[in-house]
Amino acid sequence: MLALRAMTLVDIGINLAHDSYDGDRDAVLARATAAGVRQLVITGSSAASSAQALALAQAHPQRLYATAGVHPHHASELDDSAESALHVLLAEPAVVAVGECGLDYYRNYSPRAAQLAAFARQLQWAAECGKPVFLHQRDAHDDFMAVLREHPAALRAGGVAHCFTGSERELDDYLALGLCIGITGWICDERRGLTLRDVVARIPAGRLMLETDGPYLLPRDLQPKPASRRNEPAYLPHIAAVVARCRGETLEECAAHTTTTAQRLFSLHPLQD
Ligand SMILES: [Zn+2]
Repeated sequence: MLALRAMTLVDIGINLAHDSYDGDRDAVLARATAAGVRQLVITGSSAASSAQALALAQAHPQRLYATAGVHPHHASELDDSAESALHVLLAEPAVVAVGECGLDYYRNYSPRAAQLAAFARQLQWAAECGKPVFLHQRDAHDDFMAVLREHPAALRAGGVAHCFTGSERELDDYLALGLCIGITGWICDERRGLTLRDVVARIPAGRLMLETDGPYLLPRDLQPKPASRRNEPAYLPHIAAVVARCRGETLEECAAHTTTTAQRLFSLHPLQD
């Protein structure tokens, strides 16, 4: 009898250090495993949360990995002491990307000048440490592209435009830079996700990766509706199914190429069957 090979997925963007997981993080991880989500990259968004992300990764070697960087919301916090702390983290093998970094003009929690400076500084780190960049952009596409074009060495190890929700033009700009594209459960939103459903088919296999961005962005079309609005990695197969349908692929095909792409970009430990 043929053994059914379980589907394997990688959640490339999960804020697992978030305090909403403090009460049941192990159970969240167990549900992820049961759902086939076998490796996860934990997003660091400040010096403190990047240190927490690394601690989690080190507690689960070859399964959990971390990024280290400063989200544009926290750009004002990037002083010299935060920079030294992040440099120590970036030297760790379990830290597989610089970020999340970028620009967010939707909320402007940090002033734009601070965001631009913090972004450029982190791209410099990526050029120095040779790790890929984990990028965040919202309502700032033109400035974002301008900064990236000024730092070509930062993209030598590649990068991912995480939680992509943009237009066809934005997508084409990112693909032309050689970036990978991270798709979240935003695509499951019957109101806001419609453009994304059309655009996702334009992403070549080899450039597409999947993420929950939990605890944020709970897919709106989960059935039955979960009691909590907290998103978690166990919902990644649901996102993968929607992405696969929009691309005219089977779920297995979509899982296979997105997993290969994530493993390659972040140099994750090979998965055993
Ligand atoms: Zn983000």
